[in-house]
Amino acid sequence: MARKSIRAWPCAVRYVRPVSTPRTASVVGGGPAGLIAAEVLARAGVTVTAYDRMPSPARKFLLAGHGGLNLTHTEDRDGFLARYGDSAERLAPMLDVFGPADLRDWCAGLGEQTFVGSSGRVFPRSFRATPLVRAWLARLADLGVRIERRTRWTGWTDDGLSLTGVDGQETEVLSDVTVFALGGASWPRLGSDGGWVGPFADRGVTVAPLRPANVGLRVGWSDTFADRFEGTPLKHVELTVRGRPGVQGDAMVTRAGIEGGPVYAIGAAARDALDADGRCVLQVDLRPALTVDQLAERLQRRRPKDSTSNWLRRTLGLDPVGIALLRESGASALPTDPREMAALVKEVPVVVVATMPIEKAISTAGGIAWSEVDDALMVRRLPGTFVAGEMLDWEAPTGGYLLQASFSTGVVAAHGALAWLER
Ligand SMILES: Cc1cc2nc3c(=O)[nH]c(=O)nc-3n(C[C@H](O)[C@H](O)[C@H](O)COP(=O)(O)OP(=O)(O)OC[C@H]3O[C@@H](n4cnc5c(N)ncnc54)[C@H](O)[C@@H]3O)c2cc1C
Repeated sequence: MARKSIRAWPCAVRYVRPVSTPRTASVVGGGPAGLIAAEVLARAGVTVTAYDRMPSPARKFLLAGHGGLNLTHTEDRDGFLARYGDSAERLAPMLDVFGPADLRDWCAGLGEQTFVGSSGRVFPRSFRATPLVRAWLARLADLGVRIERRTRWTGWTDDGLSLTGVDGQETEVLSDVTVFALGGASWPRLGSDGGWVGPFADRGVTVAPLRPANVGLRVGWSDTFADRFEGTPLKHVELTVRGRPGVQGDAMVTRAGIEGGPVYAIGAAARDALDADGRCVLQVDLRPALTVDQLAERLQRRRPKDSTSNWLRRTLGLDPVGIALLRESGASALPTDPREMAALVKEVPVVVVATMPIEKAISTAGGIAWSEVDDALMVRRLPGTFVAGEMLDWEAPTGGYLLQASFSTGVVAAHGALAWLER
């Protein structure tokens, strides 16, 4: 993809042109996409009210911080964009408006310096989201943003938004512009449950079905395998689906299947295969650093008294879970021929029967189709209505790409809203 920087502002959050007349905005959804949109709008002097159905905003962002908040990534621009697959072209200008360096600056402005981990991933120094969210909410309050909690958006009235408070009371809210950032449908207990799909679809907006992304895969392990290896990592393996590029890393055997970074990274390919064929065969390369020839050569050194396990452990350094996976792969008797065994070690077939449910997914694929929004993220058939974050139809692997796109789209939607107010 050609590099073209269209950076129009030193920082698209801090440098915002004030609106010329008093204006009001509703931001519906208080995750990272909604809150950054609220910040931009408030900095322009717009009176902003944000609504969230939960007792406190940004719950998923806070949870993301539990395992070490991976905010963004330092990968080069082309590599970064490639993570968004088919959505890369639409997201590219938005990442130019508010990209990884901007996100890091913005964090520093809230007192949270960031650092780059060994894999190029970016984390806040504290590793957590709590200090960042605390400082951010204080800043939003200073900017005059009002956050209405326990307030659920349920649809539209003739002139405005229909919101239901904790008392079940329905109220109509009128504002000059609206930004929706209601998230996907993963981890619904944190707030985003995909309940927005119906009202948007009723208005004729095309929404691609919400599906689990960055999620574990379900495998019908034998009881013996699951009992012995649940919670055991398959270290330094490479996973491939349907001839797509393999992904290396550590995967984790769970009671019901397999989880972990490389599993999430091949998740979309696994989903496609499951859709097409009802099943998906995951190929696990237990020794990605060696070729079949190299493995076969090592396997020639079998001693006469070696059991199969000893042979594999001694010549290839396979650990018990790797050896059990070979047995689990369906071969009643493992090959004794070195070349046949080498081929199996490079491509252990694991039959995936389903993805884990969306409730357990880290993120959501699907959402409002790109064709429904203009470059400023305004819904074409709903003038004055903008959308951002995981509500849009994009997906990306873990590694900071999810939060980055949520922030970037939030900033762009807010700038779009400001331009629309000043049109
Ligand atoms: C366990 C876990 C770990 C993660 N770790 C990372 C990570 O390290 N790095 C990374 O990049 N990404 C990570 N993510 C993904 C990241 O958190 C999301 O991509 C991001 O939060 C999406 O932002 P959003 O603003 O679009 O939606 P959300 O954060 O989901 O926010 C949407 C908000 O809308 C509110 N809402 C929903 N419906 C309504 C309604 N009808 N009325 C009113 N309010 C409503 C919700 O309560 C919620 O507060 C993680 C996700 C999970 C689940």
